Amino acid sequence: MEEKRENFLGENFNFPESVLDEIQKNIEDIILNFDIPESNKLDVIKKINYMYSQTRYLSVTDALTGLYNRRHFEDNLEREFLRAVRYKSNLSFAIIDVDFFKKINDTYGHSCGDYVLKEIAYLILQTFRKTDLVFRYGGEEFTVIITETPLEKAVIPLERLRKSIEEYIFSYNKNKIKITVSIGVSTVNEKVKSVHELFENADKALYQAKENGRNQIQTNLS
Ligand code: GH3
Ligand code: MG
Ligand code: MG
Repeated sequence: MEEKRENFLGENFNFPESVLDEIQKNIEDIILNFDIPESNKLDVIKKINYMYSQTRYLSVTDALTGLYNRRHFEDNLEREFLRAVRYKSNLSFAIIDVDFFKKINDTYGHSCGDYVLKEIAYLILQTFRKTDLVFRYGGEEFTVIITETPLEKAVIPLERLRKSIEEYIFSYNKNKIKITVSIGVSTVNEKVKSVHELFENADKALYQAKENGRNQIQTNLS
């Protein structure tokens, strides 16, 4: 069986808002203790390392879902695109958009919408390999960079994901909610000249999926 990516934040992860405050406090501590005695140096280094890793983590992470954020997405898509062109490797790219998500917020409230986004993020993470990259692109939109995978192979896990979301029962305050997603997929080939085109192709395919009735995958090779 293929190795599946663990949700590195754990299933019940709640992002601690105190982390930023803690970093701030650590900085203050260091400044206050600027004249650091030799015996404390190791402690200070450990603290700075900790602060650095927290800051790094925060800068690439979406606070709600724990997925990588949009900033990290932009860096990665460009790099993977250039890599695929240079080494002539396969690369597929998908945008996943929740269908009628506004209705969820309007019917059950914003916190229910947030809960749904967290669950969907988890379902997406469960679907893909560790070598694929999953991001929260924006509100109810997710992106996946599917490395070393041609389009016809990429649609296999994407279809599995579409189906698993369609079948999943989202339970929130005794409400049993059904959700679907629409997915647009593109791939790197000789016609695709830039990372921008790769993105636009998937976006157009997503638009087609919405137009054709949602809850489906559309591909775009042009
Ligand atoms: P479609 O099927 O055409 O995609 O319809 P839709 O309702 O999903 O799309 P639309 O773009 O109209 O609505 C997206 C909604 O997502 C609107 C916005 O309030 C909501 N949203 C964006 N970010 C968040 C968030 O972090 N939490 C919650 N609860 N809602 C969010
Ligand atoms: Mg949308
Ligand atoms: Mg939507």
